Amino acid sequence: MNGKRNGAVSDDHRDLEAFAREVDALIEKYKSKIGHEDVDFIERCFDYCDKSEIVGRLLIHFSLDPFTWLLGSTLLAYHMGSRGALMHMVHHGAYDNIPNVPSRFVSEKTKYNSAIARPLWKVFHVRHHAYSNQPEKDPDWGYGLLRWSGETKWYPFHLFQVPGMVLTTIGPFGGIMGWYAVFQSGFMEFFVPKGLISAGRFYDKHDWETFKKSFAWMMEGLGPYLAKNFLIYPALGGIFWPKVLLGNTLAHFMAGTVAWLHTVSAHIGQPVFEKKPGSRAEWYVQQIEGTANLKVESEIMRIFTAGNHQQIEHHVYSKFPVSRLWEMAPELEALCKKYGVRYTSESWAQRTKKVFKTLLKYSFPVS
Ligand SMILES: [Zn+2]
Repeated sequence: MNGKRNGAVSDDHRDLEAFAREVDALIEKYKSKIGHEDVDFIERCFDYCDKSEIVGRLLIHFSLDPFTWLLGSTLLAYHMGSRGALMHMVHHGAYDNIPNVPSRFVSEKTKYNSAIARPLWKVFHVRHHAYSNQPEKDPDWGYGLLRWSGETKWYPFHLFQVPGMVLTTIGPFGGIMGWYAVFQSGFMEFFVPKGLISAGRFYDKHDWETFKKSFAWMMEGLGPYLAKNFLIYPALGGIFWPKVLLGNTLAHFMAGTVAWLHTVSAHIGQPVFEKKPGSRAEWYVQQIEGTANLKVESEIMRIFTAGNHQQIEHHVYSKFPVSRLWEMAPELEALCKKYGVRYTSESWAQRTKKVFKTLLKYSFPVS
């Protein structure tokens, strides 16, 4: 159930100033550890990611049986999901200040791209981190059209938000949800009436010039992705183009589903904040309580999610490289316990259940 906190967290008896000082010290401790081993780790992640693309595409193209084809598609899904998650950290600038870091890991110089291009990222994702779980401010709030709190006005289309969520995660349109921000910022904000969108708007002007700029940013990431997976590689398959197109589409669905699980589900069902935090301590509490982690134990899945399952630590300090996030997690969780700050870490099943329960509850106007 959604709790609500108005930002006035200091009026209870928790010593949140002391909490903030301890969190600051924890961040400094792990910042001082950032170095070449972080670069080695992300290189290994990209290595898995790049190789799984090559092997996956070859298997899809040359497979003679459904099992090899499915293996190819799974490997390609690994590549797609992992690339998006890794680029999230690179775009945040997590590796920018490490001496002699290869330019492909530096946010402003990277040649890697993902479905969400850097300029668009800078507009909406940075804003999401500043205003997490604040209705009408957070661009991720409601992911465009969803309603997951009483703060969002109810419309009849919310009655269909649960099947809509299923369709945009595991159904025929799987993967689209992962791109909500791309569509929202590059398209919906300009064409869907303001009142219908639950998320915070992030353009002040909605004129033709702003739309052109935003659309160009959207296509900078999305264009090559669509062309590569749904046009160029199928065309290279010659008469086997349907097999390639289907394999790439399946990979896109699988990657989108997992991406949804470890990113989109991180804030739904968590407490809602009506006001801007009044202090650093309140900001920490909002970031931690408004976010949830996924329990991911296996090393291969940790590499795949590239730290995206560790969203609480990411929200506390968004420039931490991947492996520092789960390294500091036990200490942050202990601090939260000490000061009575809610720290949510749940399995995929628990998280999914909570998300759908919340969406079902707010499908109806009475909530
Ligand atoms: Zn982020």
